[in-house]
Amino acid sequence: MTQPDAVTMSGVMPSGRPFVQTPGPTNIPDRILRAMDRPVIDHRSPEFAQLTEDVRAGLRRVFGTRDGAPMLYPGSGTGATEAALVNALAPGDRVLVYTYGVFSSGLALISRRFGYDVDEVAMRWGQSIPADDVEQRLRADVSQAKPYRAVMVVHNETSTGVTCDIAAIRTAMDAAGHHALLIVDTVSSLASIDFRMDEWRVDVVICGSQKGLMLPPGLGLLGVSQHALEVQRQHGGSPRHFWDWEPILRENRGGLFPYTPATLLLFGLREAIRMLVDEEGLEAVYARHARMAEAVRAAVAAWGLQTVCERPEDASNTITAVRVPEGLDSNDVTRFASENYGLSLGGGIGELNGKAFRIGHLGSLNELEVLGTLGGVEMTFIELGLEIELGSGLLAAQRSFLGLSEDGTVAAEERVPATV
Ligand code: PLP
Repeated sequence: MTQPDAVTMSGVMPSGRPFVQTPGPTNIPDRILRAMDRPVIDHRSPEFAQLTEDVRAGLRRVFGTRDGAPMLYPGSGTGATEAALVNALAPGDRVLVYTYGVFSSGLALISRRFGYDVDEVAMRWGQSIPADDVEQRLRADVSQAKPYRAVMVVHNETSTGVTCDIAAIRTAMDAAGHHALLIVDTVSSLASIDFRMDEWRVDVVICGSQKGLMLPPGLGLLGVSQHALEVQRQHGGSPRHFWDWEPILRENRGGLFPYTPATLLLFGLREAIRMLVDEEGLEAVYARHARMAEAVRAAVAAWGLQTVCERPEDASNTITAVRVPEGLDSNDVTRFASENYGLSLGGGIGELNGKAFRIGHLGSLNELEVLGTLGGVEMTFIELGLEIELGSGLLAAQRSFLGLSEDGTVAAEERVPATV
């Protein structure tokens, strides 16, 4: 028997679209769905070679690189992470990893599994990476017999809603005169938060398809600098087959892959790149995400709740993790919203399980969708007996969108243009 897509607790299929405001997978625009809704083509045909060329050129623009090599794997962000590590690092290599949430801790964990020697600096969940600490550690490390081969960073920690300053980390590495590779996970930031692979000299960029790129899950993506390719050639890396960069580079030159590519997802990716890069423009995409995030944060403040992110300057423009008051289990919030309003929020994960929930505000998203989400969260709070003022978060978000101060006057110069 086929199951309905979304059913409320009463078992009735709700009308209207379900609201998926998790930190990914994100909503897929109809245009992208239509681009993928087509017969599979031969992945050895000239038409497919052109598609490969188009998406590789487009991805370079998304990563912010002129000559970095985009790599596309059927897979996900975790697969892309594994691909980055087994090419760039060999067993016994020393690596520096700061951990401040589930995914940065994951980088340390995966590295240990491959036999790399991990120096893990544990931060509080809610903090970001202090660039001065990076500089100090790297200064002390340059004279080691075996200095760090890589510094690994999660740009946007999806579990806490914290964004790290990659430019500052690069500056710290340069100031220390350290030549480690800079490997950055951008799974929940690419095509949503400003990212500049060449300018910040990021050696390997890790991503997946299902967040800022507005595609279904199914692709693991890398951007690999020429420097990282050179280091890999000299250094050798770890045992690998499927993830190996060399056969991919060789085959990609003719528009081919050394494995069966995710053909239809690539049609979707080409459409996503058209929408993000050619039509809206990446700067406008980043500005839109900033606008959505500010409104969400205004709502959280109006409810009198705390974000997991400790410092406003580290707040993520794609995800807000909200702490719930003592006595309330955040899993009840996500469950109630899903069962009663068809609203999917992200749960608290890792040590935040039960203590926080996450609002995803990334990908294909506009003002009214954010207001709908916040309205659903408010109704959930009230139903669960949380003492917040009904409408307070919505009002704060609307004011944020309109550039209105609390007394209702318009700060004309502060008005931000709407999405459409
Ligand atoms: N890194 C970050 C920052 C993530 O948010 C995620 C997933 O949400 C991953 C890595 C793992 O990616 P995937 O679930 O696509 O394997």
